[in-house]
Amino acid sequence: MSPTLDIVPIENWLPVFQQPLVISGPCSAETEKQVIETAAELARIPQVRIFRAGIWKPRTRPGAFEGVGKKGLKWLQKAKLETGLLLTVEVANPKHVREALDHGIDILWIGARTIVNPFSVQEIGEAIGNQNIPVMIKNPLNPDLKTWLGGIERLNQMGLKKLMAIHRGFSFFNRSPYRNAPMWEIPIELKRLCPEIPLIVDPSHICGNRELILPTIQKALDLEMNGIMIETHINPSKALTDKNQQITPLQLSDMLAKLILRRESGGVEFEQKLEELRSEIDKLDEELIDILARRMAVVKEIGKYKKVNKITILQLKRWNQLIHDRVETGIKLGLSREFILKLLGTVHEEGIQRQIDVMNQDEPL
Ligand code: PEP
Ligand code: MN
Repeated sequence: MSPTLDIVPIENWLPVFQQPLVISGPCSAETEKQVIETAAELARIPQVRIFRAGIWKPRTRPGAFEGVGKKGLKWLQKAKLETGLLLTVEVANPKHVREALDHGIDILWIGARTIVNPFSVQEIGEAIGNQNIPVMIKNPLNPDLKTWLGGIERLNQMGLKKLMAIHRGFSFFNRSPYRNAPMWEIPIELKRLCPEIPLIVDPSHICGNRELILPTIQKALDLEMNGIMIETHINPSKALTDKNQQITPLQLSDMLAKLILRRESGGVEFEQKLEELRSEIDKLDEELIDILARRMAVVKEIGKYKKVNKITILQLKRWNQLIHDRVETGIKLGLSREFILKLLGTVHEEGIQRQIDVMNQDEPL
């Protein structure tokens, strides 16, 4: 499913690019003073070169503050003039695109609520037309890689070659400390399929609170993401939107100083040691697969035996006992309960399928 994309490398279109790229600014532009002051403080942080602000705010229910609209674009222009920061705003329809481009916005982004709809993505792409403007594409609200990829492919096929992806987490029903579950495996898979597209993280919308932001950024950078888009406000407790997840520019500066920037590869000695450890992993994986194959062979034997004796496949009492015992053993060995449960679930599902296959076989046993 790997898409064929035609992408201009970010270094070629974003002169201020450096790893990690830092984009910051308020969730929403609220007043001219707030925009100008936030931008001025951010411009003092050397890593921040792009200023973000929501002008049209997608809200779950009507009646809440829905953004200042077009007049906010003038404040952004003034902020750019005074600080030199590049500008990015969210666009959700062709009118937003036209107004943003009329006001010299440098980069557009498509939000999580818009990317789910191919009609909207198509209309936005058409409104941009042949203006070679960069676009950042957030993941959709639901954990659906295909829709995210689809948005990227659609815009690329419409001629947009300066693209970036933003990981902002996914709506999730389970209780979780995050506002939007990070589900890191999804952005990792996007990176694997589209290595040419820079991928940045939006820790603000993933976390929904200030406390989790720093470890979330660190994790993203450790996963080789290329930067962050983070919400900042001169007075977060007074913010009109997303006040629990916004931090001050000063807090951002402190956070950036705490980040550990790891290299993708080290020197010869490091590589040798890594190679040793990796060959140990390879050996263990082989053993693991061998054990799993042997376990499945025994499961098949059990299936045959149950078939002959007309016994049901699923034996709940045995299954509950097994979970209990294995979790206990795993925890003693330093493995987490969640991991053991996930692993056993997968192994058990495969075992059940093997036994169903045995039951359905016609040939003599
Ligand atoms: C935002 O970045 O302000 C925003 C609305 O984000 P999302 O589309 O990720 O919810
Ligand atoms: Mn927000």
